Amino acid sequence: MHTSTRLACLRFATLVIIAGCGGGGESATTTPTTPTAPTTPVAPATPVGPVGPLVIGQTYTDENGWLEYVPGNAPLVIIAPHGGSLAPSALPDRVCAGCVTVNDANTQELAREIIAAFERRTGAKAHLVVNRLSRRKFDANRDMGEATGGTIALQKPWAWLHAAVDSAKDITTKRHGRGLVIDLHGHAHAVARLELGYLLSESELRQSDATLTASSTMLRSSIAKLSTDSRSTTDRGVPMLRGPFSLGTLLASAGFPSVPSAQDPAPKVGEEYFNGGFNTQRHGSVQGGALDAIQIECNFAGVRDAPNSRAAFATALANALAIYFERHYGWKSSP
Ligand SMILES: [Zn+2]
Repeated sequence: MHTSTRLACLRFATLVIIAGCGGGGESATTTPTTPTAPTTPVAPATPVGPVGPLVIGQTYTDENGWLEYVPGNAPLVIIAPHGGSLAPSALPDRVCAGCVTVNDANTQELAREIIAAFERRTGAKAHLVVNRLSRRKFDANRDMGEATGGTIALQKPWAWLHAAVDSAKDITTKRHGRGLVIDLHGHAHAVARLELGYLLSESELRQSDATLTASSTMLRSSIAKLSTDSRSTTDRGVPMLRGPFSLGTLLASAGFPSVPSAQDPAPKVGEEYFNGGFNTQRHGSVQGGALDAIQIECNFAGVRDAPNSRAAFATALANALAIYFERHYGWKSSP
């Protein structure tokens, strides 16, 4: 059941130039020049995105049915930006220098599996935001210019997407105070492992824990806030990247090799690695805010290639997140 809504409030996103998955090699980041979205909804000049009251579990779409938001009640937001299949002929293919147009295969399906597995594990439903358009038409992990390739008709959908994430974040903040955004992707790099992106480069990750601590590097990460306020004081700082209760270590221990983690602290020189893209920058806590963000780049075989792989990984991730939420956010379940 799809319900379109024209109700809207627009909290326009900061434009950040950032490379992300499929871009090849390390992402380059620039410092945003303006703060993130205001917290108070403003009356829209043009209807853009979903606003409350929103019904948990109901599917809302933009007016074209290109974007989807399913509100939840858990302090978790899953975004699937590169798993869409719609390719309306009315939309031109994106043309821009260095544009990546290849989809992250099966990541939309994987996102839905994760929502279901998390609900089975915790009794609560995570928020889901999906780009249904093919990346050839729209890239939902880029600033507006690169995302739309200059197509005017995609500007409103771009704003809708981020308004939906902002709505999910607002709901989460009001209900739980804190929370986490996961931007879900797929990579085709040589090393078959999950790549967790925190906006820190591979060269930064190769530094020692002591060096990273001395330079306050975690404050430039997408989990900046959690690195300072984890309920587990011993996990604050660099342990959030590769300590025993980091997400990477929990996933690796469950049979899904991850970098960074205790088992694999950093990509080696010459290894490809994605460190987080636009959504991780825009929707995490690097610029403040109550939600942290982690980009998860999934390898293909055994993670997202087939239904049984996706089910197994979704279950492992849900279990890891349940531990992570209880230990770091003090949240167990509040359906
Ligand atoms: Zn991607």
